Amino acid sequence: MTERRDVLVAGGGPVGLYAAIEAARAGLDVAVLEARPGVLDKACGEGLMPAAVEALLRAGVSVSRKREFAGIRYVEGERRVDGRFSRGPGWGIRRTELHGALMRRARELGIRVIAHRVNQIVQDEQGVIVDGHAARYLVACDGLRSVVRRRLGLELAPRRGSPRFGLRQHFRVAPWSDFVEVHLHPLSEAYVTPVAGDEVGVAMLFDERSRNGAVTMQGLLARYPELCARLEGAETTSTPRGAGPFEQRSSRVACGRVLLVGDAAGYLDPITGEGLRLGFLSAIAAVAAIRRGEAAAYDRHWRRLVRRYWWGTSALLALRRSALSGLMMPVLCRSPWLFDRILDGLSEGDVTPALPVEADCVTSAARTQGSGSTSTPRVG
Ligand SMILES: Cc1cc2nc3c(=O)[nH]c(=O)nc-3n(C[C@H](O)[C@H](O)[C@H](O)COP(=O)(O)OP(=O)(O)OC[C@H]3O[C@@H](n4cnc5c(N)ncnc54)[C@H](O)[C@@H]3O)c2cc1C
Repeated sequence: MTERRDVLVAGGGPVGLYAAIEAARAGLDVAVLEARPGVLDKACGEGLMPAAVEALLRAGVSVSRKREFAGIRYVEGERRVDGRFSRGPGWGIRRTELHGALMRRARELGIRVIAHRVNQIVQDEQGVIVDGHAARYLVACDGLRSVVRRRLGLELAPRRGSPRFGLRQHFRVAPWSDFVEVHLHPLSEAYVTPVAGDEVGVAMLFDERSRNGAVTMQGLLARYPELCARLEGAETTSTPRGAGPFEQRSSRVACGRVLLVGDAAGYLDPITGEGLRLGFLSAIAAVAAIRRGEAAAYDRHWRRLVRRYWWGTSALLALRRSALSGLMMPVLCRSPWLFDRILDGLSEGDVTPALPVEADCVTSAARTQGSGSTSTPRVG
């Protein structure tokens, strides 16, 4: 068994690395267990909402290759409606760039990333043992199909009907807009995110019923003539990458000394582009709860954080599937204030710790003595 740390993070994706950075900045001794080596790529729309950008800046993560965007543009045939962020720009950034930047910051802070696929988790009142690695707390950021969530029996069945999937690819072309464009088709949505001065990412979201056989980027793009014209002749700069089914639910996100964060905690759909914003803000809340020794408080806080996302995303998906779907763009075009209100929702989130913490509540003495918890954790 290894020496006991304050925190182990399972999964070194963006949210896992962010949680580790947050923990290290709070003076906690933290290591990350990540199954895959190197700089990681993943299917993603790659649009960071303003609160996610603020969270990165607050943590000292610096990114060189990115493209700012001013808001979201919905496009359907001839109709288009723009919504601008009031809080500051979002960032379009390739996942590999984001992961590289987070890895650099983690290294600066002396965080160890250990190549390991998490399998067994045992916990008691004092701490957690993950395949022989010991810690006071485990922060599980192992993604949509979280092993930790499954092992602890926290997995719930999805509620919605036809599962949704995603496919993304990049193209060498100068962005033609300062917005993330969302092109609507009755069967799918195409997100176009500027990620550099000469590159855009296209992410397609669609549900099982609309697949019509094998899914290819070319096949999906053919639904969007305007987009096809923009991308005609452009070199592809990545291979297509898929993801899904999206919906994952958990019964709770704090179980004894284990806290689920990011997609591992539960996810509905990328349609509002909020995964990383919510992941970073949840990581901040989880570390604050650990510093207070009140892991259970994280569950309540997480529910408050994600409530609007779950409600808004469910409503939007229901609308997209209903007979009223065709009314969405006419209504938004006639009432642009409504779109601005929706965007304010996407921008919201306080990046300062939501739970009050004492300036230096984890002393080295407390670390060597082990648990500083005042709560009575449950054994998972
Ligand atoms: C098509 C699509 C478009 C999206 N668009 C956007 C967008 O525009 N903006 C936005 O903010 N979000 C978007 N999202 C959501 C966003 O991608 C996720 O919310 C985000 O990746 C969650 O990060 P994470 O670190 O929690 O999980 P992941 O990125 O999945 O990382 C999990 C990590 O855990 C590791 N892991 C898994 N199992 C184990 C194990 N047993 N042991 C050790 N390590 C393990 C994996 O290797 C991986 O590195 C989109 C998602 C999709 C699919």
